[in-house]
Amino acid sequence: MKLFVMADMEGISGIFQRSQTGRAEANFETGRRFLTWDVNACVAGCFEGGASEVIVRDAHGAGYGFVWEELDPRARYVQGVSERERIPGIAGCDGLILLGYHAMAGTREAVLEHTMSSAGWQNFWMNGRKCGEIAIDAGIAGDHGVPTVMVSGDDKTCREAKRFLPGVVTVEVKRGLAREGALLLSREEAHRRIQAGAAKAVGRCRALKPFRVKKPVTFRLEKVSKGRLPLHRPGVRVVDGRTYEVKAATVEEALNLL
Ligand SMILES: [Zn+2]
Repeated sequence: MKLFVMADMEGISGIFQRSQTGRAEANFETGRRFLTWDVNACVAGCFEGGASEVIVRDAHGAGYGFVWEELDPRARYVQGVSERERIPGIAGCDGLILLGYHAMAGTREAVLEHTMSSAGWQNFWMNGRKCGEIAIDAGIAGDHGVPTVMVSGDDKTCREAKRFLPGVVTVEVKRGLAREGALLLSREEAHRRIQAGAAKAVGRCRALKPFRVKKPVTFRLEKVSKGRLPLHRPGVRVVDGRTYEVKAATVEEALNLL
């Protein structure tokens, strides 16, 4: 069983503030350690659950989060950027895990909620359904026939995951109290839950259905700022002064057209 883990940062246990997630921020070094520990707990769970191979992508920002020298030696790791695929090699995997994810832009009392870019994206819809990064990445995997088997993050992230992905294992590592505030578990308890969740999730790879998005897929993006639409890009349909749509044959292709 081959697992791919996309690791974001906002939904990592112990993270409750922006200062922990930005490369130039005061507490980024702390945030990186928390991220690395959650990754290690997840990798341990995957192998405990019967995985034969695990690849983890540092999917936050420019992929500079993992403390490489502290990572579990059994898995392999993607850091930095990739020119082709957002989830490199997902086609040959049996399941996708979204670790440390966050609720879609606009969700109330959700830790560091956003969709792709806090500064750029106000709202986002896929085939008319408002969604966030959970649905986007599950959709990319779904296009390759790969089910999303686990999502970890705060309570709002888990709620969103269940709405889009019936049967997915959710691991709630904190309760969101505000955009920058949370009721946290201890480090030990959070890691215990992540490890147990990942072990359980490996067992669901065969049973869960991939999240398949109808094609052609339409992406609608409402930008934060007005008057900044890609008006001269082919295939762009302008909806209003800060909203536009693109259509494509796959989720990944649509994402690249935005
Ligand atoms: Zn992130």
